[in-house]
Amino acid sequence: MTQLAGSGTSDLRAAMQGPVIGPDDPGYDETRRLWNAEHDRRPAVIVRPQSATDVQTAVRYAVAEGLEIAVRGGAHNTAGLSSVDDGMMIDLSLLNQVSVDPTTRRAKAGGGALLGDLDAATQQHGLAVPAGVVSHTGVGGLTLGGGMGLLTRKHGLSIDNLESVRVVTADGNLRRAAAGENPDLFWAVRGGGGNFGVVTEFEFRLHEAGPIVHYGMSFWPADQGAEFFRMTRELIPALPREVNVLIGCLNAPPAPFVPQEHQFKAGYALITVGFGAPAQHADAMEQYRSALPPLFDFTTPMPYVAVQQLLDEPNAWGMCHYEKGLYLETLSDEAIAVITDHFPQKTSAQSVALFYHLDHGYLETPDDATAFSGRRTERYAMFLIATTPTVEALEPERAWVRSFWDALQPHAAGIGSYVNGMTEPDEARLQAAYGDKYDRLLQTKCTYDPTNVFRRNQNIKP
Ligand code: FAD
Repeated sequence: MTQLAGSGTSDLRAAMQGPVIGPDDPGYDETRRLWNAEHDRRPAVIVRPQSATDVQTAVRYAVAEGLEIAVRGGAHNTAGLSSVDDGMMIDLSLLNQVSVDPTTRRAKAGGGALLGDLDAATQQHGLAVPAGVVSHTGVGGLTLGGGMGLLTRKHGLSIDNLESVRVVTADGNLRRAAAGENPDLFWAVRGGGGNFGVVTEFEFRLHEAGPIVHYGMSFWPADQGAEFFRMTRELIPALPREVNVLIGCLNAPPAPFVPQEHQFKAGYALITVGFGAPAQHADAMEQYRSALPPLFDFTTPMPYVAVQQLLDEPNAWGMCHYEKGLYLETLSDEAIAVITDHFPQKTSAQSVALFYHLDHGYLETPDDATAFSGRRTERYAMFLIATTPTVEALEPERAWVRSFWDALQPHAAGIGSYVNGMTEPDEARLQAAYGDKYDRLLQTKCTYDPTNVFRRNQNIKP
């Protein structure tokens, strides 16, 4: 364990408004926990800023002391990059305030807000910003990588709806970045991850959504995989943009709406959320039924905030995870054969493969307008996610994800993928993910963080 030099942390404690927690302080073990229980890191010091000024103090202190910095938003990074052995964890969870101006349709979210905080505040006004599907995920990490979710089809990625950010850069300065202010930094934080500093505030443009939306879940058995995917590739792209679908290879949940005899069964699901007229949603569900009758389906009106929490429990804290992602431009027969061959080989009931079909709103932001790690052409973003209750059980599942991913490579849009779906650092994959944007990201990194103070991320090495 690193011993802090000089005055230890007493100067830091005196200078910070928020708590400073060392290994011997109460709350240390609770605060250093990460969502992925595979990782058990022991920072030399944890700071919990209560303001942007606190973040500046922490960054300056860490740089002066030579402490490696890890920035923690919602702590959901699968690789455990939001903590660090012997370094400083900057835990942003006290910066979780969200304010909404319904007149200008803008929301300001603190750098440590969770998606649930953002949804709760914006939905009070019937507004929302596209983000992910698990409400305990952090706005910070999700947005900085791009941010895709149920509203992406209608309104694009989270970053496509970002108006400005406030960032503490490696020199300890607090800067605003927006289209007309530090535009290079604003471009880079929209997809370039945590490479450029600590974002203390995100300002989003909002859209009308809900508060009641239409939820549907339809489920097909494992032996109908090929028919399921052929139906999916025909029907999903043709649905109206108000109807958003998450495609899943998963085990049926033990939910009240799942007939008891089908609970825990592995199979294929469409989670369909309608933001428009009820008839549009009902029509989508009917199209599935007539194309390929499901084993069961369920549909109901539901508050948008409740839909955004439906996957919270299956993704609860305390489990072990490994993940790899890729893009598929089409669901070819060959890709379908790989998916339906590999999915049933998993050994854990909780492991899943999930897809977003990216179209409509996703295509409306030009490719070079942001640093997003994916071309703006129609595609499926696929996430292969291993989940197990213990570290020991994770090993076979990690092998399952890797062999599944390898087998899909000949059908994928290259080795690059959405950076928020990458676990292990891999420079070749990262460069492929950013393609011709990589050089511009590198230049911006050299401008704002030439000594790589912020390196616990999908790192752009200066
Ligand atoms: P953290 O682990 O806290 O942070 C991850 C990294 O982001 C940090 O290492 C740091 O570099 C950086 N970071 C975080 N906050 C800040 C900040 N304020 N300033 C500077 N850097 C910061 N992605 C989607 O797009 N859509 C989804 O629907 C989706 N669902 C998910 C569901 C689950 C259960 C999980 C585990 C992940 C999901 N993801 C999804 C991926 C998710 O976007 C990434 O894991 C993201 O990094 C999580 O952000 P976080 O703040 O919770 O993570």
